[in-house]
Amino acid sequence: MAVDDRPDPISEMAPNEAINEAHSAAATHKRVNAWQQPGPACLDFRSDTMTTPTASMLEAIMYTTLQDDVMVEDPTTNNLESYIAELAGHEAALLVMSGTMGNQVALRTHLTAPPHSVLCDIRSHIYNYEAGGVSSLSSAMILPIRPRNGHHLTLEDVKEHAIVSSDVHACPTRVISLENTLDGMIMPLAEVRRIAEFARAHDIKLHLDGARIWEAVAANAASLPDYCTLFDSVSMCFSKGLGAPIGSIIVGSKPYIAHARRIRKMIGGGTRQAGVISAAARVAVDEGFGHGPNGEGGNLRASHARARNVAEMWTSRGGKLANPTETNMVWLDLAREGISATEFARLAAEEGLKAFSGRLVVHYQITDEAVERLGRVMDAVLRRGRERETGVADGETTDGVNNSNGNGERYGSKESK
Ligand SMILES: *Cc1c(COP(=O)(O)O)cnc(C)c1O
Repeated sequence: MAVDDRPDPISEMAPNEAINEAHSAAATHKRVNAWQQPGPACLDFRSDTMTTPTASMLEAIMYTTLQDDVMVEDPTTNNLESYIAELAGHEAALLVMSGTMGNQVALRTHLTAPPHSVLCDIRSHIYNYEAGGVSSLSSAMILPIRPRNGHHLTLEDVKEHAIVSSDVHACPTRVISLENTLDGMIMPLAEVRRIAEFARAHDIKLHLDGARIWEAVAANAASLPDYCTLFDSVSMCFSKGLGAPIGSIIVGSKPYIAHARRIRKMIGGGTRQAGVISAAARVAVDEGFGHGPNGEGGNLRASHARARNVAEMWTSRGGKLANPTETNMVWLDLAREGISATEFARLAAEEGLKAFSGRLVVHYQITDEAVERLGRVMDAVLRRGRERETGVADGETTDGVNNSNGNGERYGSKESK
């Protein structure tokens, strides 16, 4: 195929150089194929959103159908929707442009008549990273709850804070929105079951922000339908660890998805030749997640093994983790070392790596080379921490970066999730 046969002037260069060249060339319309691997993601620990779309996705886009999805006429998009609905154990599905659009459309579809409130984890994406969409698009009050166990919401947390009341003063909870994985941590299936039972008993809808639900399944927590069928709606991302360039999907009942299609249209999310999105998304699911309800044959599991390796590199050097490594995220406790997120990002950049903070996302395109460099960054971090403790490097911290870690940055708050 023509795309693969192009001369490749950059394959002989060092990875950093090659990546920069490919991207500046793409930006200046030189004929260089930016879809080839390794892409810029191979040295980027900021997020799994950084995964570079692959040549196989480009090939799928070349051979996709190009009919109108607002008219529900595009076979590739219709196939993707019915395939994901079936894979998740739901009746229907709807392609959306982003995970944020997925959550917002899903919640707006549930929430029809204020006053109403949405209960969620205080660390959740819908509360922290969706520009306040729940309040502006759904006119809903958010009840952000800090889980008592520090890991995931439990039925006890939900019972304590859900507003179940006919009192005219109250703002009744109409949706409980869970997130799995959250900060790379898995919500146990048994706890979801307990909360689902409570929600059903009180006529509360249950939504899952499952942007990274694929990761929980790949970690063998439960199958995709085991999780998804407990919810009235689930949103799932194609463009995180699965690596698609664009796209997310919502699953639910047929009437629910029919209404969601209208809401999607209302906010400008109806796209015409959506096959260019859904073709790549299907490749992302097949290659990233795999071919069955348990993520058979997907490439996420290898990234989890690599994440465990990265965590072990840190702890064996004497570092501490801020959160357990259960899927593809490793949380270095930088505060304990007296290192700010900014300083860490700078130390990583010295090794040619990208990082936001102590949250390292180990997606499938992270290479051995990147992990090796990361080991040297860890050495530098821990050396600095120790020097600071013993006062050796007292004069050394005047480099314009506030190393006190008291600079008002909430730990890990600068992430685009
Ligand atoms: C990434 C993410 C989203 C959506 O992000 P977009 O950038 O809008 O695609 C939603 N929820 C969670 C938990 C996420 O990690």
